[in-house]
Amino acid sequence: MDNCIFCKLAINKIPSAKVYEDEEFIAFLDIKPVSLGHTLVIPKQHYENLESVPPEVAGKFFQIVQKVAKAVFQATGVNGFNLGFNNGAVAGQAVFHIHMHIMPRRTGDGLKPWPQRELVAGETESIALKIKQALTL
Ligand code: AMP
Ligand code: ZN
Repeated sequence: MDNCIFCKLAINKIPSAKVYEDEEFIAFLDIKPVSLGHTLVIPKQHYENLESVPPEVAGKFFQIVQKVAKAVFQATGVNGFNLGFNNGAVAGQAVFHIHMHIMPRRTGDGLKPWPQRELVAGETESIALKIKQALTL
């Protein structure tokens, strides 16, 4: 993809703080980190979103995420980390080449999870049914 920043980054057309590379994936530090050590993992091949990734690539992708996350955890000496995957503009995706955020968390860092709400009667059953139906299509 000619105008994709992560495609350019994958072939070293633009610089990055790369921490991992193999034939199919790279990991590099986020240019605007949520916390020190915030790392992104991407496939070198361009896929816009989770829906468009072949299952075998999705499987390998998560294996690399696990490997890199363990290294980030060890190197930063943190207490934990969040994985983040923004899928679609409405969900905060700004770069349309799939990427997993690995965000180190430190005790007292003040970062807040997304807000939750109480369920409205009946809504769980209805959406659970729709998802189950979609899974059998
Ligand atoms: P998202 O909102 O999930 O699409 O996140 C895109 C992420 O890519 C943001 O956290 C950006 O800070 C990060 N980013 C954008 N351009 C670069 C770059 N050239 N090098 C490293 N990280 C980048
Ligand atoms: Zn791309």
